Amino acid sequence: MTEDKDGNKQSTGNEPHQYQAGSSTERKEDEWKLRAPYRIHDKAENFDVKWRGKCHCGAVQYELSREKPLASKYCHCTTCQRMHGAPFQWAAIFHKEDINFTKGHHDLGWYDPTAKSQTHHLPCKVQCAYCRSPIMDEGRNMILLFPTLIEGINTPEGRKAFEVQSHMFYPQRVVDIKDGKPKFKGLADESPLVDEETGEEIPESEPKKDKDS
Ligand SMILES: [Zn+2]
Ligand SMILES: [Zn+2]
Repeated sequence: MTEDKDGNKQSTGNEPHQYQAGSSTERKEDEWKLRAPYRIHDKAENFDVKWRGKCHCGAVQYELSREKPLASKYCHCTTCQRMHGAPFQWAAIFHKEDINFTKGHHDLGWYDPTAKSQTHHLPCKVQCAYCRSPIMDEGRNMILLFPTLIEGINTPEGRKAFEVQSHMFYPQRVVDIKDGKPKFKGLADESPLVDEETGEEIPESEPKKDKDS
């Protein structure tokens, strides 16, 4: 889910093209490699690895230093359906500092769904530029990581750590998920709750603020 509601600048298509920027870090268009979530950590840094993940071809590999995402959700919006070729998207939210790319800085590709451009303009989708596995959505402050890339996600520990708290954009769904978890009309915790069978708004449902994640 990468909607931009803040009226962000649209791409003119003339920005330096950062897609697969190569191995240098000196050029202005390579500055992204020095900032989270792509910042190249030096060996001496204390990065406590809890999970490892990689794309299908293995060109892009990363580590995570947080045991549980800040939140985990399924997004049923039509953008996610189309961009993932899947009925819904599974997004686990992390701080940008929680990830360390150990391989593949030069194999990342971006797509900004708002401008329909491949420039690195936030929020954007991040893929492996070789095998095209979706890796994460990069927002302005957070990343939304796709947990199916994580080794051990199918173990009881993995499933528990990444278990979703809610569903968002549920009225746009192509499948019903009757798991009893809160279903939101739009963004989680910021929009009305909807019924999981009908997708209809639940009268007088207050958007609840869930702070225990
Ligand atoms: Zn979505
Ligand atoms: Zn790949």
